Amino acid sequence: MSDHPEDFPVPAMVDWSFFKQVKHQVVIAAEACKLSSDVRTILEEPKNEIIVNFPVKLADGKIHTFKGYRIQHNNLLGPFKGGIRYAPSVSLDEVKALASLMTYKCSLVDLPFGGSKGGIQMDPGKFTTDELMRITRRFTAALGNNIGPLYDIPAPDMGTNAQIMVWMMDTFVNTTGSQARNLSQSIVTGKTLACGGSEGREKATAQGLVFCLEKWAVENKLNIPECRFAIQGFGNVGGNAARILHAMGAKVVAIQDKDTTLYHPEGIDVPALATHLGRTGSISGFASAKPISTDALYEVDCDVFLPAAIEGTITFETAKKLKCKLVAEGANGPTRPGGEEVLLARKIEVLPDILANSGGVIVSYYEWVQNRLSERWDLEEVDQKLKKKILRAYNHVREVSSSLGVDARTAAYIHALRRIEVAYTERGIFP
Ligand code: NAD
Repeated sequence: MSDHPEDFPVPAMVDWSFFKQVKHQVVIAAEACKLSSDVRTILEEPKNEIIVNFPVKLADGKIHTFKGYRIQHNNLLGPFKGGIRYAPSVSLDEVKALASLMTYKCSLVDLPFGGSKGGIQMDPGKFTTDELMRITRRFTAALGNNIGPLYDIPAPDMGTNAQIMVWMMDTFVNTTGSQARNLSQSIVTGKTLACGGSEGREKATAQGLVFCLEKWAVENKLNIPECRFAIQGFGNVGGNAARILHAMGAKVVAIQDKDTTLYHPEGIDVPALATHLGRTGSISGFASAKPISTDALYEVDCDVFLPAAIEGTITFETAKKLKCKLVAEGANGPTRPGGEEVLLARKIEVLPDILANSGGVIVSYYEWVQNRLSERWDLEEVDQKLKKKILRAYNHVREVSSSLGVDARTAAYIHALRRIEVAYTERGIFP
């Protein structure tokens, strides 16, 4: 998406790549906290960039080749950790950006993990279930020992789900020596409950976001049930956020997916829309809300705009249209630099992605711990631990923000960077 500054006093940021966008955010924070230049240098590029091309026989009886990525940004604080994305947008640049965001996210919320990300450039909607299984298994085999339960642990992201994680796990386990099989279950997180997943993982990203929203609402003398939300994306993050907020009594006035945008000033009946999606495979044709144009989503009158789809949707242009008090970033990287400047100038608050959507990796960590200890925690325990951890990070962001006079995104990066800097300072660089 383009990002033309035109009449706004921001530097030209047209066609910035996603990875450059993340680096730009890191540089702002690094300068604000006077981060050591050595640490800056180390974090500038990922540690490992793995690209695999692998063949799969599809339903047409022909061999097709796919390009898969696994980018391992940093593992100073623990094993690499990050999702697997199946989407047409997947590229080396996108996965590098997402992997680096994982490094900062895990550091911010104090997890013993580093950051990675992977994916395949494809539209998963165009393949049969059987083809998706064969693509996933072959991708896992192609990655081989580049992933591992104590080395690099994938999870779901856009276009992937618990079933795909189970196929990855099963493939990895079956190519591991029999003695290590049970422990190898922790090779991926976000699995189904029957196959070693954790209670609360499916909704974890949205639940963490809602815990942050509740805290923000209290700070702003608001009540979630009185708030209006516009949500971009109706998948794992957006769909679960809509469901939880609706159940709390909030009005979800607009919902957008890749094809359709729906609006209802009194609030969309989210459970009915989820049923419609389950029945028809799409949110279009839902009679109880009005279809509006894609761009009209940005002009919806609401308290919170919740991007939960692709990166780069809040641009210089769309940020000028927003009629909200808060942008709560469920998606990774939804705000482009030009959009950021407009939000700051318009005093629209931002709950930045590395904080707001960290619930997913937090509960992934709990799944990994449960797998390694052969334990099962109930939903109440998982939710309680998630709430405590994400709100602790929320408070750190607020503290850094007020002590240094910086915005929330910069504060979140500063907290994350400081933890990494301390570890590098104490450990030094080998040899
Ligand atoms: P998903 O595949 O479950 O859902 C994606 C949704 O976005 C779908 O409703 C899809 O129709 C919609 N969408 C796709 N392209 C769109 C477009 N151009 N405009 C509007 N809507 C569009 O994906 P997800 O897991 O919910 O991930 C969404 C975002 O949240 C991504 O940025 C992802 O990296 C981030 N995220 C996900 C998790 C997780 O646990 N799944 C964790 C942290 C962050």
